[in-house]
Amino acid sequence: MHTNSLIELNRSAYQNNIDFLKKTFGKKVLVSSVVKGNAYGHGVQEFVSMAFQCGVTHFSVFDVQEAKVVKSTLKNKATIMVMGLVQDEDMEWVIQNDVEFFVFDKSRLTKAMKTAKKLDKKAILHIEVETGMNRTGFDKSELNAVIAFLKKEDQHFTFKGLCTHYAGAESIANYYRVDQQIKKFEEIYAFFCKNDLKPQIRHSACSAASIMFPQTRMDMVRIGIMQYGLWSSPEVFVTYLNSKKNKIDPLQRVISWKSTIMSIKKVNIGDFIGYGTSFMAKRKMKIAVIPIGYCHGYSRSLSNQGRVLIHGQRCVVVGSVNMNMMTVDITDIEMAKKEDEVVLIGTQKELSVSVASFSDFSNQLNYELLTRISKAIPRKIIE
Ligand SMILES: *Cc1c(COP(=O)(O)O)cnc(C)c1O
Repeated sequence: MHTNSLIELNRSAYQNNIDFLKKTFGKKVLVSSVVKGNAYGHGVQEFVSMAFQCGVTHFSVFDVQEAKVVKSTLKNKATIMVMGLVQDEDMEWVIQNDVEFFVFDKSRLTKAMKTAKKLDKKAILHIEVETGMNRTGFDKSELNAVIAFLKKEDQHFTFKGLCTHYAGAESIANYYRVDQQIKKFEEIYAFFCKNDLKPQIRHSACSAASIMFPQTRMDMVRIGIMQYGLWSSPEVFVTYLNSKKNKIDPLQRVISWKSTIMSIKKVNIGDFIGYGTSFMAKRKMKIAVIPIGYCHGYSRSLSNQGRVLIHGQRCVVVGSVNMNMMTVDITDIEMAKKEDEVVLIGTQKELSVSVASFSDFSNQLNYELLTRISKAIPRKIIE
């Protein structure tokens, strides 16, 4: 390894996940691969190339910066949809390149129309409506004006989608709220149709909603976390398993994160390890220094908590995670030496460190932990 660490993306695991998702949703539902947040830390360029090879042709991003990376990687082979921010100065690029985008307020709508007119090219719109999350989306009170505007300007846009987003479908505690949102979305769709304005497709589901509320799948699902082989929450996983006879997890983790031992040191009883006094050796210990720290995305909250694998054995982080380094206990691993492989996420011999167990120790969500992994670490696709 020529770098401090390496991230591997497992293509066959990804193919397995995509096959599972397509089979679950059926032929009529398009799967959009959500690759915001540097493809949930997987590395957006490498990830979208791999996904495209595995048959994915629709990608959802948060902003135009991300859309540009996907575009430069896949050229015109895939559809790109921006779910969040389009700055005014980016509107021309977006429309010129057939990038689709959410429209959730009046100023975005006006800007889109003006630009489409100027370029003499249709803007491809997904009208996002507010159904109860209270984040982005047109309110009910604005719909009449939106519909009138769309009808007046109809030569300048394609009404591609009507969409919304649910406020926490991964938790049964939110069942009532999400259920109300689904009903509201249906009403709004009917209202558009009644006004002779019909979107080509409707979409609303993220990973959790697609499993917990199958009626939210509609024409397209926006799948982030599940394509990476992880569940939105244990509740979603259990809900899925309860619907199946065989109780096997159908998803496989795509990411692995590996490093090597940088240095080894012996420590006496009573010595403190690293900064301060958070860890005192209660026996004679052997410590491995790993060139990974919080600047690479290994959270400081994993100090004295995190687990890594060395020679197929679980080793605990001792002392605090520093900016560029951390120390782990290898007292019981006789044969450990400099440059041996260290697995931060992934499998070694029979054991695995999953993203979930990694995050349980620090109370972080899978999502947050993954997206924190530094962009600077090289990504490599393995078969
Ligand atoms: C992030 C996001 C998704 C995907 O969420 P997952 O839980 O990762 O599947 C879908 N829709 C929108 C609007 C999002 O922001």
